[in-house]
Formats: sequence, structure tokens, C-alpha cells
Amino acid sequence: MDGLEVDSCERCPALCESRSRIVNGDGPDDAELLFVGEGPGENEDETGEPFIGRSGTVLDDALRDAGLGREDIRITNCVRCHPPDNRDPHADELANCREFLEQEITTADPELVVTLGKVPTEHLLGRDARVTEEAGSIEEARIDGTPQRVLVCVHPAASLYDASQKETFTETIATAASVVGAGEGDGQSRLGGF
Ligand code: URA
Repeated sequence: MDGLEVDSCERCPALCESRSRIVNGDGPDDAELLFVGEGPGENEDETGEPFIGRSGTVLDDALRDAGLGREDIRITNCVRCHPPDNRDPHADELANCREFLEQEITTADPELVVTLGKVPTEHLLGRDARVTEEAGSIEEARIDGTPQRVLVCVHPAASLYDASQKETFTETIATAASVVGAGEGDGQSRLGGF
């Protein structure tokens, strides 16, 4: 691990069995916004890139509406290996990968972490969360003892299954953009100039 990328890891037997590869985070290593998902899906496992399947398309659309591009943000997951049958990562797997996530957050040192869905929200805040109710709220997490602002967001896939969550998702991404002063005005990406 160089602070951002894990080259090899054998900590989780079930995930070693189900993964094709380790999926590291992607994006600028000094991004103002760091998005955290749950774990790689099948598409991500095939390509080695986070959020490139349907969830990634939903995210890209919301980023664009907020005047941001994927190149402006960093994105990673709580666990870096695709769980079998797309199940949620187990508590021991989340714990095994926590060190890598904390190192990535510490290295990137973002202005704001955005948690995409229940798993990353509960994992980083260390408590139960109702993300549909809490979406848009900024909480404080401790990363390696250091306070980190966390914006709670629903998972982009939620809006594929429940249209009512689409607005919540889009509004939360707009909040993320405004917190870092990006995307205001003409809809063009602004973070590059920061
Ligand atoms: N869902 C996630 O939580 N992470 C990905 O990388 C893809 C889909």
C-alpha cells in the first residue's frame, strides 16, 4: 500500500475466492471530494475500476448536473474485493479493509467524504444509520483519530429501484458540490481551477 493503492492482500478468504482482482480507488490523490461505496460489483471486478456499472452511470449523471466530472472526484469502496453473489461485506471483511480505507482518506485528505449508502455510512460513522432520512446531513467521523466531515448519501443504485430516491441522491450530490464551492454557475466543471 502506497497510501492509496493495495497491490496484494489475502486477509479475507471468501473475498479472495470471489474476486478477480483488487479494485482500488480512482481519481485525483488530492481530491476535495472523496466518495466511498460499499464494495466492487461484477463490472468493477472485471475491469478493476470502481463504479463503472449502472451505479456509476447514475453517479456520473448527478455529478454532471452538479457541474462536476468524474475527473474532479476520488472514489473508493469500504472493501476492495467483489463479495460472492454481490452480498454485503461482512463485519470482519470491513474491519480487514478499514486500514486501507483510512490510509486512503488520510492521504487524499479531502474536504468532504461522501458515503454512498448504508454500509459506508454506518462503517465510517460507527453507528446505525437510516440513510434515506439522513441523506444530505453532514456528520463527523474520526479517521485515525482525526475529525473528518462526512456527507451522508443514498447509494446511486437505490434510485434505480426506487424513483423517489433519485431526487434525494441528486440533491445530495449538489450539496457535496456546493460544500467544496464547485459546480456553481454554468454547469461546467470548476474543481480543476482550485
Ligand atoms: N457499488 C459500490 O458500492 N461500489 C462499486 O464500486 C460499484 C457499485
